[in-house]
Amino acid sequence: MLIKIACPNCGGETTFSLSQESYEGPFRCWKCHNLFRISLANGAVASCETMSSEEADRLTEELRKKRPSGYY
Ligand SMILES: [Zn+2]
Repeated sequence: MLIKIACPNCGGETTFSLSQESYEGPFRCWKCHNLFRISLANGAVASCETMSSEEADRLTEELRKKRPSGYY
């Protein structure tokens, strides 16, 4: 499924492709390149918080540990 996420910083819309209805993880706006931690539930944005690139790296690492294969 495809979800459109409007960037809280610049308003640019990014189309996000999901294999399931919920997701939590890093998201980068294609327009302003800001990083956000987003969580999606039932195909809608539940929360969206700005984060630094250090936080994003850490989150990516965490997710990678949880899902050792088939992610990225
Ligand atoms: Zn943006």
